[in-house]
Amino acid sequence: MTFNELNIIEPILKALQTEGYTQPTPIQEQAIPVLLEGKDLLGCAQTGTGKTAAFAIPILQLLQANSRHEQGPKAIKALILTPTRELAIQIGESFAAYGKNLKLKHLVIYGGVSQLAQTTALSKGVDILIATPGRLLDLMNQKFIHLHKIQMFVLDEADRMLDMGFVNDVKKVISKLPAKRHSLFFSATMPPAIQQLADSILTNPVKVEV
Ligand code: AMP
Repeated sequence: MTFNELNIIEPILKALQTEGYTQPTPIQEQAIPVLLEGKDLLGCAQTGTGKTAAFAIPILQLLQANSRHEQGPKAIKALILTPTRELAIQIGESFAAYGKNLKLKHLVIYGGVSQLAQTTALSKGVDILIATPGRLLDLMNQKFIHLHKIQMFVLDEADRMLDMGFVNDVKKVISKLPAKRHSLFFSATMPPAIQQLADSILTNPVKVEV
């Protein structure tokens, strides 16, 4: 299987070539077609499997297809919620790499640093927001972030999110998302509490396990 066979658009294919990716990993092979069809996804996968590209590539491709119709200032259309600053930064680097030939803007926000650079970047318009829960809620409460235009939502590392005590924060964020949205849920493990959370977020998901 090649990336070509996954119907990925040329500007992203070129970027993947630059990254030195010659073929998709198993999770990419399974998840990318499902996501490009607009279906919800339950992904059981650890870090190191290539799961970031499995969601970043379809998000970039779907937003790119819709971006021609957007008028006025950019609204946040994709939200990736991840438990730690390190993961958020890594995911941001992946969006930068795979999206380098596109005009979509992404921003990474996390706590423990001044919010000024983040709010300044937000005011200029962002297509894709990668966030840790605490700082996201903080900036939502201050009205720097509105989630009513979200089309795609990713909950990354859901089991770690719960282990770190973020369950209520995650639920608060989800309560602000439009009901009609494309949702993706990733977790390395699927104990009952995680399965319940997944059931509350996803609609008829396709399950992918690697
Ligand atoms: P992740 O599981 O998303 O943290 O990715 C693990 C590592 O695999 C990252 O360093 C990626 O750059 C790399 N990677 C992801 N997809 C591919 C691919 N198709 N071919 C080669 N490397 C990849």
